Amino acid sequence: MKVNHNILQLENNYLFSEVAARLRAFQAEHPDRKLLKCSIGDVTRPLPRIIADALKDAAEEMAHAETFRGYGAEQGEPFLREAVARYYTKRGLTIAPDDVFISDGAKSDLGDLCDLFDADNTVLLPDPGYPVYYDTSIMAGRRVTFLHGTQENGFLPMPDPAIGADLIYLCSPNNPTGAVYTREQLEVWVQYALDRKALILFDAAYESYIRDPALPHSIYEIPGAERCAVEINSLSKMAGFTGVRCGWTIVPRTLLLDGASLHDMWFRRMSTKYNGTSYIIQRAAEKVFTDEGQAAVHEDIAYYMENAHILRAALTKAGIWTTGGDNAPYIWLKAPHGLGSWDCFDMLLNDYAIAGTPGVGFGTAGEGYLRFSSFGTRETVTAAAKLLETL
Ligand code: PLP
Repeated sequence: MKVNHNILQLENNYLFSEVAARLRAFQAEHPDRKLLKCSIGDVTRPLPRIIADALKDAAEEMAHAETFRGYGAEQGEPFLREAVARYYTKRGLTIAPDDVFISDGAKSDLGDLCDLFDADNTVLLPDPGYPVYYDTSIMAGRRVTFLHGTQENGFLPMPDPAIGADLIYLCSPNNPTGAVYTREQLEVWVQYALDRKALILFDAAYESYIRDPALPHSIYEIPGAERCAVEINSLSKMAGFTGVRCGWTIVPRTLLLDGASLHDMWFRRMSTKYNGTSYIIQRAAEKVFTDEGQAAVHEDIAYYMENAHILRAALTKAGIWTTGGDNAPYIWLKAPHGLGSWDCFDMLLNDYAIAGTPGVGFGTAGEGYLRFSSFGTRETVTAAAKLLETL
């Protein structure tokens, strides 16, 4: 018997466990000080009423013989695949419901997609980035190369023709930097992927936070992407579904790589290893895409974006370099006084009782930076902002 030694190569999830341990130690030492958590990567607003009601109604359907449902459609219920496809028409895109695969969230799909590719592929990862891309690539035994985000490139690294890549992860708006690729930049990425016959895995988990109408929400807004890109999205951050769990992946039928249809492969893979997202959850997800549902979730998004604005304004007032926060729920800041990420984290915690997330935890290019999240309550954010102004 042999285990997957690739998994043993991974470090323990040092970042979040270390942040949690330091916050616990701080609270134990200072039980009377209120910790201002700007580190939280999870939503805090409750589900909109219309979504909660849809969950209740669907649960009730399950209690009656006439409306009870057992196993669902493998790829997701048609009503939800159609609702997702319609969502893209807002941007003038035609996505076939048949190209939409419903899942229990973006993280699972990002990991599961690894099943479709040979271990002998080079993965290109923008650094800093969401740690799941790196960890799942290493688990699958792939080579990983990095493209560094810097202040000079606005934390939006562009392809280097001298660097080879087969699988390219792009996240826009980005976690952790909040930076968003422009249309022109994504055109360059799509051309690079087409030239190399590479595949882009486009993580659009934060697209609903984009405010600037010129910025693309979907990779399919770029002509040619239907031949070189898969798009992963989720209701976690759009609609407060982090605990409810529902997402989707678009795998166009036009995607033919290495002589194979990725759509057919993904269908085969999903119908073998996944028995579908709960019917109850899919009914609630359907409601998110109605006009009423969109109005409700956009109220919560506006609340978080106002938090982002408050935090960023305070940092700017303090003369600190930031990016993000305009079209994303994350603000990426340069640690003041030339501090390293962890030293900055400790300084903010000990001197101001403010918690951030050290940038270096998202990759070596994050050293010297910190991530603030806007998912906290208004009360926390305004209290933190007042202190940050004096940094
Ligand atoms: N992609 C990015 C960039 C994220 O930041 C997250 C969650 O934080 C996910 C995907 C995972 O989202 P889900 O809750 O849909 O699994």
